[in-house]
Amino acid sequence: MKKWIYQFGINHNNEHLDNITGLLGGKGAGLAQMSSLSLPIPPGFTIITDICNYYYNNENKLPPNFKNDLSKALQDLETETGKKFGCHKNPLLLSVRSGSKISMPGMMDTVLNLGMNEEVLNALVLTSGNKKFVFDNYRRFLAMYGSIVLNVPYYLFEDAFALHKARANIYKDDDTTVDILENVIKDFKKIIEKHSGKECEPDPLEQLSESIKAVLNSWMSHRAITYRKLNNIPESSGTAINIQSMVFGNMGETSATGVVFTRCPSQGDKKIFGEFLINAQGEDVVSGSRTPSPISSDGNQQGKSMEILMPELFQELEQVCRKLEYHYKDTQDIEFTIEKGVLYILQTRTAKRTAAASVKIAVNMVEEGVISKEKAIMRIEPESLCQLLHTGIDYSKNLEHVAVGLPASPGAASGIVVFSPFDAEEMSHYHKVILVRNDTSPEDIQGMHVAAGIITARGGMTSHAAVVARGMGRPCVCGVSNIVVDEINKILKIGDLIVKHGDTITIDGGAGKIFLGKVPLIQPEVTKEFEVILKWAYEISALSVRANAETVLDATMGLKFGAQGIGLSRSEHMFFDKDKIPLVREMIIAKNAEQRKKSIDQLLTLQIQDFKALFRIMKNKPINVRLLDPPLHEFLPTEQEDIKKVADSLNLSVSSIKQRLDDLHEVNPMLGHRGCRLGISYPEIYQMQVEAIFTAINELDKEENIKTLLELMIPLISNVNELKKLKFYIQQKITILEENFSCKFNYKIGTMIEIPRAALTANEIGGEVDFFSFGTNDLTQTTYGISRDDLSSFLPNYLEQKIFEHDPFICLDEEGVGELIKIAIERGRKANSRLTLGACGEHAGNPKSIEFFHKAGIDYISCSPYRIPIALIAAAQAKIRH
Ligand code: PEP
Ligand code: MG
Repeated sequence: MKKWIYQFGINHNNEHLDNITGLLGGKGAGLAQMSSLSLPIPPGFTIITDICNYYYNNENKLPPNFKNDLSKALQDLETETGKKFGCHKNPLLLSVRSGSKISMPGMMDTVLNLGMNEEVLNALVLTSGNKKFVFDNYRRFLAMYGSIVLNVPYYLFEDAFALHKARANIYKDDDTTVDILENVIKDFKKIIEKHSGKECEPDPLEQLSESIKAVLNSWMSHRAITYRKLNNIPESSGTAINIQSMVFGNMGETSATGVVFTRCPSQGDKKIFGEFLINAQGEDVVSGSRTPSPISSDGNQQGKSMEILMPELFQELEQVCRKLEYHYKDTQDIEFTIEKGVLYILQTRTAKRTAAASVKIAVNMVEEGVISKEKAIMRIEPESLCQLLHTGIDYSKNLEHVAVGLPASPGAASGIVVFSPFDAEEMSHYHKVILVRNDTSPEDIQGMHVAAGIITARGGMTSHAAVVARGMGRPCVCGVSNIVVDEINKILKIGDLIVKHGDTITIDGGAGKIFLGKVPLIQPEVTKEFEVILKWAYEISALSVRANAETVLDATMGLKFGAQGIGLSRSEHMFFDKDKIPLVREMIIAKNAEQRKKSIDQLLTLQIQDFKALFRIMKNKPINVRLLDPPLHEFLPTEQEDIKKVADSLNLSVSSIKQRLDDLHEVNPMLGHRGCRLGISYPEIYQMQVEAIFTAINELDKEENIKTLLELMIPLISNVNELKKLKFYIQQKITILEENFSCKFNYKIGTMIEIPRAALTANEIGGEVDFFSFGTNDLTQTTYGISRDDLSSFLPNYLEQKIFEHDPFICLDEEGVGELIKIAIERGRKANSRLTLGACGEHAGNPKSIEFFHKAGIDYISCSPYRIPIALIAAAQAKIRH
């Protein structure tokens, strides 16, 4: 018969179990592993993750043998603790917590202090001798059990408690008295009975089975489903349930509870970092309802840190951190409780961290000899590096902030203030929004996701807002003490200042500062560790990584992030400059070659300068320049004023220009007169571009001794005859230029493969060129027959209905588009074994697609400069994996 339950604690060693995290979930595996490390954990047992699938596959029922297993485990726990569950003499209280395979912090439910009722309460008063402590636990139990198991809205308990405190003029939970708590408890019971129609304190065994079901039900809660979707966590992975004997951090001044990281999760510094609250229970720290104190002193904590207040326990905690980090060879996030001076570890898990911390920790651990370079690279989530490329605030501008809080998650953002997750979602369609809350709860997740930044008045660095924002890479400032957030009236008071819904503010999540209005932002600096990890990735990766760039700014940024060349320079982007666009329009609208020549000659002069500037900074690195590609309509004038300007400069009437615009109008321009088709219709345009490129190369060589490694690329070929014709025009022009300049140019000529027919006839095309570059944007568009410009009208529905698993324009469709790529590679290489292969669509910056390119045998990928670090790490990971 299946074993549903595994026990943990000093007397149990389950570390040998296969796939321990899959079986027991992350938390359960941590408890089992800590048991074998002899760490002080309160004993308990884990119900395996399979229970979750069983429950949902069997109409929310538990397995037949489960009840017996549960009573046996409970009996064993009672023997081990010397206490009895539901007993009126020496009662055992339990916590019931979720624990999925893949961590989903705060997304599922927990019930603490389970096993209480009126009789147990009296027994506990006798055994503990601390009436207030027992009543406080009972209050917490009723609110948790009422809201989580009996579905009574939690705010009703919060409001009732707040009312009693207000009547007694009390601000802190700690200051309540037994009398007040007695009244609160009475009110809580009334609330439960009124809103659930159920008895508020059933038999403890029933409490236990109902809590187990409630935790299982929370697996399918809206917020858990949203979190799984956002983080690609499969629904089938399931959650385990951990049932543990309670230890109490709220037994007075020698008790406490807290969260500690073995290294700083924001910056990655090697010292323990965390927060704790004296005389409190776990949810007080995580919920942010009280602002906690730091674990370590950093010189300015005015004696409030654990290091100063509880020095021996601090040292013991440090040792536990070292032991756990050594065991897992990674930074841990540890929950602990101190009950009357005794330390207990409740949980350990791999710490979530910012991208900056992730890079620093990975590099430092290699330097410390803990892990290999390969392991370090595999630890970096490529997409998370976007965080390192976040903007910051330009402090050279003498800015005055209006409030300061905790620097909970780095990055800076400006946006309009909103006070609810619903407003955040609404307004984010039109504006960047900053979500301002007293504190956040998992219900806020969607609002946090769409927000550009988050502020909370309460809560510390490990509060829900801080943890979630860091994971999402959102700038976040927490625990801003001098502000008042009035969520009902949508007002933020900062001293005398009033900020209303819709006003603009800026936050710096790295410094914890808030500014009124928009302030100047700057691009981030690359850290030493970031450079080191990119260097390792560069050494390991089989793919080389280039930048898509046509401006000096983009190319410089690409080089800064490690680009090994330019893989796509969309030459038409140079045409959009203010000084060039009128000439481009004239060139297109001109009715004949003679008219066209005038604008082409002027463009030539300007283009030579463009190419010189670009080639100069890319010296000695390959540069792929693509000849004019997009549909002409992208350049044509639509405004009356622009039409008149073109008419004047061509000496034609406005009506004749309009006529010409009508002639050029296309129904499906993306599949129309674009790419190499333009080169065939207007050979003089491509010849002008070729002249500009080679003149720039010649001048740079002669004037500055700069060698340019040019790769000239022809777009949108579907038939080898197009290629042959254009090669002829281009080479004819180059021969003339070589004669004029008395030189011999060294260059490569190639084509984009972005139409299925080109892929299928790669055996013909491959023999004509030096390289292929897969234009996967167009190849996806033409393979699917989906217009790149119009897919938003149905794609969300397709994704929602799971017809498409991903947006194929972001993540390469390996079965269809990928198959064409493989065919093209095979046939192209057969025709030309020295063919170089590149990929330059958006997919070249997407980690999963990069893995495909690696496996397919591509030589280089080319993506936008800001995605180069992501692409480098993904390329190295692909090499390590395969
Ligand atoms: C492509 O089609 O993948 C490509 C890189 O070209 P563009 O996006 O400019 O059409
Ligand atoms: Mg294209």
